[in-house]
Amino acid sequence: MPAHVIVRDLSKSYGPVAAVRGISFTVERGEIFGLLGPNGAGKTTTLECLIGLREPDGGGLEICGLDARRYPREVKQKIGVALQSTALPDAITPREALRLFGAFYRERAEPGPLLERFGLQGKADARCATLSGGERQRLALALAFVNRPAVVVLDEPTAGLDPSSRHELRSEIAGMKAEGHTVLLSTHDLDEAEELCDRIAVVDRGMVVATGTPHELIAQSGAAPTVTLVTTRPLASGQLASLPGVHDLRGDGAVARFQTTETTALLTALLPLLAAQRIEIVDLHVSKASLESVFLKLTRGPEERP
Ligand code: ATP
Repeated sequence: MPAHVIVRDLSKSYGPVAAVRGISFTVERGEIFGLLGPNGAGKTTTLECLIGLREPDGGGLEICGLDARRYPREVKQKIGVALQSTALPDAITPREALRLFGAFYRERAEPGPLLERFGLQGKADARCATLSGGERQRLALALAFVNRPAVVVLDEPTAGLDPSSRHELRSEIAGMKAEGHTVLLSTHDLDEAEELCDRIAVVDRGMVVATGTPHELIAQSGAAPTVTLVTTRPLASGQLASLPGVHDLRGDGAVARFQTTETTALLTALLPLLAAQRIEIVDLHVSKASLESVFLKLTRGPEERP
């Protein structure tokens, strides 16, 4: 079965700014696919080209087997979109907005079930101006579902939300996949990408610098687990640094953080040292390498951006 979304060698410049420089990726049917990258990487521009909001300079775009550049109207019937900020008139209510947006589509869902699904029954007839940030985002998602889309495109869906609203929205997005929708989202939230996405394309400077499942990206990056050690007193100077496989040692005195490629050998050597000096462990944990190390390794920091 062909991929549900195909982006081939996409390019787009704004005057002298080359925002997208040959981006390619595919999203399989029923997958949650994330574009992960720092500010200005070209994620929004890519999504805007894909949904027909911007004319690309070059490249191919396909959605549900349709050439999105040749048949933009047909493609719009198949996709649901929630952009970073959905501008709605202050006086319109969620129920009215859903009815209005639905009128643009051949196939549409009724406002009632959408309001219920996105937890907006209590606000169905409230003016949009009175909605909280989380409620607005939920309305944006409900609007994306008004045409029963095969593919849902979400640009930074949880940006600016508090942890509990973020958690709720992530459950909603996971639910979309469970219902068989294909989801393409952009984010610079590493936890979100790791928790939600089946596969990720890491984007930097308008290019894809790596693609894979979160697990594959972490494994490919060669990043090591991080050990955090808190003790009642510091170990004698230099002893931690000389343990097997220790690198990137940070921290002072009784609190230390470092990476190691040989966790078992390290712990085997550490415990007798502590025992000999009668030093107690207050906290010790080993955390696996995360997408954060991949992100930092593959993308430019703010100081390197133009
Ligand atoms: P963010 O995470 O900050 O939203 P992004 O990865 O979505 O960033 P884009 O918004 O696609 O990145 O921007 C890519 C580049 O294109 C940036 O350098 C940005 O300043 C530039 N850019 C985006 N929109 C325009 C525009 N309308 N006119 C001129 N330049 C633009």
